[in-house]
Amino acid sequence: MAIPFRIVLYSPEGMLATNAARAAFARIHELNSLLSDYDPNSELSRLSRTAGSGEAATLSRELATVLGRAQKVSAASRGAFDVTVGPLVQLWRRARRQGELPDPARLAEAKAAVGWESIQLKNDSRAAPGSRTSQITARLLKPGMRLDLGAIAKGYALDEATRVLKTNGIRCTLVTGAGDMVAGHSPPGQPGWKIELPPLDLPGAPPGRTVWLRNRSLATSGDLFQHVEINDVRYSHIVDPHTGYGLTDHGLVTAVGRDGITTDAVATALSVLPTNRGLALARKFGVQARIIRAPGGKLEVAQSPGFPR
Ligand code: AMP
Ligand code: MG
Repeated sequence: MAIPFRIVLYSPEGMLATNAARAAFARIHELNSLLSDYDPNSELSRLSRTAGSGEAATLSRELATVLGRAQKVSAASRGAFDVTVGPLVQLWRRARRQGELPDPARLAEAKAAVGWESIQLKNDSRAAPGSRTSQITARLLKPGMRLDLGAIAKGYALDEATRVLKTNGIRCTLVTGAGDMVAGHSPPGQPGWKIELPPLDLPGAPPGRTVWLRNRSLATSGDLFQHVEINDVRYSHIVDPHTGYGLTDHGLVTAVGRDGITTDAVATALSVLPTNRGLALARKFGVQARIIRAPGGKLEVAQSPGFPR
């Protein structure tokens, strides 16, 4: 997934802590080998290579879980969130390296291969589930489709690492990956895990603040760390699937929800959607969010009613 993961935990016993942390990191590695789009041998990359062939691939339970949730967020956001953005993300990764806008013809070609509705998930009861596989098959209908779980798989990995720690008897946990985290029970004597939210690097932006997180997930999405500036316009690594362009409104979304997989995906959807539609989407998924953006340099701040709490 090309990001570092970090585990913080409290345990009365060192050996227990070490073994639990090892098992959790092993699970993250395992998920990486299934879900990463950087690894050409991952299950995800193999699935992408079937695009347009008519082949229906039987999915691992993990990939079935992530694609199933992704499709729900795509439907609810009417395609603002879309894991088929792979071809566009590739072009924008190159733009970032070279400092040049993608060629319009190639952008149009990439956009033609995007569309969440061209992932066909089916429950196939003939596909007898093994210990590793689900009963779900996936067919990618358009040639050239390429899946990218960068906006959802890390949240799932945080959930899974937290679950493994719990199975190993450790409940006082914080697992982080890039700007996302899943907190378990609070550290001893604390109201929660102390998380500092940074201020946005814009004049007039609300100050940073501290939140105490417990038994919740927190996700951030925005272009603070990953963007490219071309002709004085800042393009995010998050793309609007409907235009094919990197976002330019300089946004920062902070979302708090029950699990990592949902909070991660919803935070990214909120980056793309207009603010009001985004807050409605957050409500639907039980997520409290704050959205800061500055289209044309003018600062806008909006939040769910429950966010301050
Ligand atoms: P996040 O940091 O969770 O907001 O995820 C951003 C990553 O998700 C990007 O680096 C891309 O790999 C991928 N991505 C970009 N745009 C979208 C989109 N509209 N829907 C889903 N995933 C996206
Ligand atoms: Mg995300």
